[in-house]
Order: sequence, then C-alpha cells, then structure tokens
Amino acid sequence: MDKESVIKLELFINQTDVPSGNYFEVRDPGRFANVIAQVAIGSATHVHEAVSAAHHAYQTWKHSGMSQRIDRLNCAALELEKLSSQLAQTLVQEQGMLLRDTQRDVANGIRTLRETAALAASFFEVKEYEDEEGWVRVEKVPRGVVAAIVPWNAPMGLTMGKVGPALATGNTIVVKPSPFAPVAVSQALKAMAACFPPGVINIVYGEGDVGTALTHHPLVRKISFTGGTKTGKAVMAAAAESIKNIGLELGGNDPAIILDDVVPAEVVPELIKGIFPRSGQVCYAIKRVYVPARIYDKFYDTLCEAVNEYKVGYGLDPRSTLAPLNNQNQYNFIKGLTQRTRQSGAVVRELGQKLDPDHWDHGYYVLPAVVRDVSPTAELVVNEQFGPIIPLIPYESEQQVLAMANGTEYGLASSIWSHDYDRASRLAGEIEAGITFINSHARTALGNRHMPFGGVKQSGIGRVRTTVGMDEYIEYHAINLNKKTIPSTKKVNPQDAKQI
Ligand code: NDP
Repeated sequence: MDKESVIKLELFINQTDVPSGNYFEVRDPGRFANVIAQVAIGSATHVHEAVSAAHHAYQTWKHSGMSQRIDRLNCAALELEKLSSQLAQTLVQEQGMLLRDTQRDVANGIRTLRETAALAASFFEVKEYEDEEGWVRVEKVPRGVVAAIVPWNAPMGLTMGKVGPALATGNTIVVKPSPFAPVAVSQALKAMAACFPPGVINIVYGEGDVGTALTHHPLVRKISFTGGTKTGKAVMAAAAESIKNIGLELGGNDPAIILDDVVPAEVVPELIKGIFPRSGQVCYAIKRVYVPARIYDKFYDTLCEAVNEYKVGYGLDPRSTLAPLNNQNQYNFIKGLTQRTRQSGAVVRELGQKLDPDHWDHGYYVLPAVVRDVSPTAELVVNEQFGPIIPLIPYESEQQVLAMANGTEYGLASSIWSHDYDRASRLAGEIEAGITFINSHARTALGNRHMPFGGVKQSGIGRVRTTVGMDEYIEYHAINLNKKTIPSTKKVNPQDAKQI
C-alpha cells in the first residue's frame, strides 16, 4: 500500500479532529505488509476532554424533542448508507473478515439506527396514573454521558447498537473503538456526527489506559461494553467506584444440542452457518456441538465433509469462504489450543483448502478443524475458542446433555436441533442462556427485530435491541403530585391517564 493511501485518524472531540502526536498502526490481518491506518493514541487528558464535551452537549441534547432526535438518527443512517461500500471494503482490510460479512455488518448498523428511530416515539410515551391521593407521572429520562467500548469482530453493528439507543433516548456518547478495527467505525461516526450538535458523538483511541480512564471518569453515567469476560470484570469494578449503570455483552460458549431424531445431512448445512461465520470470531457462534452417541460417527463424517468445502483466503478474494483471524493474540491462541487439544488425545482434523498458500506466512490464516473423542471437560470445550475449531461431544440422555450444556459460567446463546418442536421447546426452557434458537444458530435468525440480545451468568448483564435494549439507556423518574395536601390546578384528561 502506498504512503498516500494510509488513513490518518485523529481523536474526535466536540466535532473536531484533535491530533495527539503519537500514533499506532493498523495492519491488514490478511496482508501484513499493508498499513491501513495510523491512529492517534489518546491519553487520560484526552478522555477528560471528550467526556467534558459530551457532558456539555448533554445539557442541551437531553431537552431536544423526540421528533428532532428521530430525524437526526435517520440522517445518521443515511450518512452511513452513502459510505457503505467504502466502509465494507475498509473493514475487510483492517479486520480481516470476508467482504460479504463486512457488508452485512455495515447493513446491520444502518438497520439498527433506523429501527431505533422507528421505536423511539412509542418508547417515550409518558405514563400517568391517578388515584384518590393524586397523580403519578412516570418519565423516562436519559442517564447522561455514555461510554461505549467496542470490540473488533463486528464493530459497525455493535457500535450502532449502542449509539442508536443512547442518542435516541437523549444521552451523549464517547466511543472507544478496538485498536484492531478502529478505522471504518470512526469514519462512519465522524460522518454521522454532522447530523448532531457538536459534542453529542466523540471518539477516543488509546492503549489500555484510555479504556481505564473512560470507565473511571466520574461524569460517565453509563458504560456500554462489548468484549471479553475478563475485561468485562475490570469494567464492572471500575463502574462500582461511582455506581455507574453498566451493560455488558461478554463472551459466550454456545452449545448446539442435536436431538436423536435428526438426519445429519439435513442439519449440517445450517449448523456450519452457526459455527464458522467470521472464522468463528462471533460471540454467539456455536462453540461446542453435543451429538447423540447413536449417530455420533455419522454426524462427524457429515460435518467433516461439509467443512472440507471451505476455501480459506483473503477477505477481498471472491473465492474465499473463510478469512484469516483478526490479530496475533487470537492466532497464537488458536494455534496453541489446537496443539494442546491434539496432545490431549483428541482427534483434530484440519479441513478445507488453502487459497494462495504463498500469502499464508503474511496473514493470520488457519484451516478450520473438527475435533472428536474430546473430553467434555477439555479446554476446547469449557472455554470460548473464538476461532474455527469445533469440538463434537457424544451424549446418552437428555439429562446428561443438559448438565453438560449448563455446566459452564457462560450463558449467551444456544440451540436445539430437532423435528419435534414440543420436545425442543421443552428442553430450550431448561437451558441457562439469554437466547435459544431452535433449528438455527445464525445471524439470519437474529434478523427478527423482536429478539432482545444478551447473556446470563458471565456472558453479560442487560440486553440490546428492541425496546428492552432502549430501556438500558434511561432512568425512570417518578413525579408524584399529592392532590389532598395542597389542592392543585393540575387537570388530567381521563383519556390521557394511563395505567402503568
Ligand atoms: P477485549 O475485551 O479484549 O476488548 C474489548 C474492548 O475493551 C477493546 O476496545 C479494548 O481496547 C477495551 N479494553 C480493554 N481493557 C479495558 C479496560 N480495563 N477498561 C476499559 N476498556 C478496556 O475483547 P476483544 O476486542 O478481543 O473481543 C473479543 C471478545 O468480545 C470475545 O470474548 C467475544 O465473545 C466478545 N464479544 C461479545 C459480544 C456479545 O455481544 N456478547 C459481541 C462481540 C464480541 P484496548 O485493548 O485498547 O484497551
């Protein structure tokens, strides 16, 4: 890549680019030689400036009318739409994913903004309740400055899932993108910021200390964090200092439970869409598959056959059906995990085809792998792998498989596969997870806009999407007027008085 095409990203505070003088490089995970961007390294002082700008803007933005906020969100969606093909392309180069996945990520971000705008008016209807004593009016009010901390794996959809509801409900925001995918999301946010008053959207980048400074800042009233469970614990501890509200979308170790009435060839094509998207780097990807012992061998063979069809290559190569991993830590972890799993005595079968093998030493490429004869308590089974290696575990009874599925501290999504809806639905009720899919486990099933998304146990706190997700960005303010003590002139049209 020539020097001129390297993007320079400055901090973005109060609608202004703020140079920091120090920069880190973003390189293409599929072509190490390509420097995509130089990104400003912020400091705790920059974080303070960004939070102060957001706090200042909040004093006005919180009073903006709902129709104004809806218009501005729709304006933001349009700005994002105008840039969508360029953003999808940039995402591939900084993040490594397939172009079709980054196009979906951008489309998801646009849809999220529009859906939030469409829900906002009815969400904000004020409820009033009257009895003999007086009136109670329950208002939904914004919280203040929101700190949005996002990971690299689906940055556009995840960021817009925070920005949309935060701004629609009258908050202002400081976004900290991941150092492994800061470019496209920042270009999107800067373009969208023009739809809002200065200071409503701010962006900071940094190395470790910036996230810490943001989560500790006393003027931040809510932290919306998506990332690993370990980091989530640090965020929660920081929030405790000044009792900030938190939303945590953390890691998952999603089980897929195959019931004994299915035919492997019927299930496998859909199942792999839940295992391998983004090379397994999806929080709600299937991370372990439980198969009835009776059909275990057949299932393993059918799955291997399907996985062998993957072509692993560069994200912008239209022949690729799996792309490289995002970063060196993830690459080293998956390589090490594969080796340790093999050494434990499990059968690890690496499958698929390498496209352009000459490039493999210059990118984080790995082949997908299917693992059998693995202990149900092996590292690969009980931890989140976040990569394209999947264990198959046999089971004998419903009771046994439920105990294994629930025997983890994770509880994001899960799935059950069967022709028997009643049985699948009964078992779904026994799974400890925020989401259970029946006969799917893929992003297409999340397209249903009535699905709130989030996890239980150590997979998170709170929900995103739908009005349940918007609820996370408001406080309830109850105003109680006693009509007996001091007679009031307040009049209520009985038709407006609603039961809460
Ligand atoms: P990390 O937890 O490593 O990082 C996430 C973000 O947190 C980054 O922006 C990082 O930036 C920042 N960060 C790191 N330390 C701190 C800190 N002490 N205080 C504040 N911020 C901090 O996750 P990854 O980016 O590696 O993403 C992968 C993980 O995210 C997986 O576990 C995956 O399951 C999870 N995830 C969960 C989703 C869900 O919806 N449940 C969705 C997508 C991913 P920096 O490193 O610069 O500090």
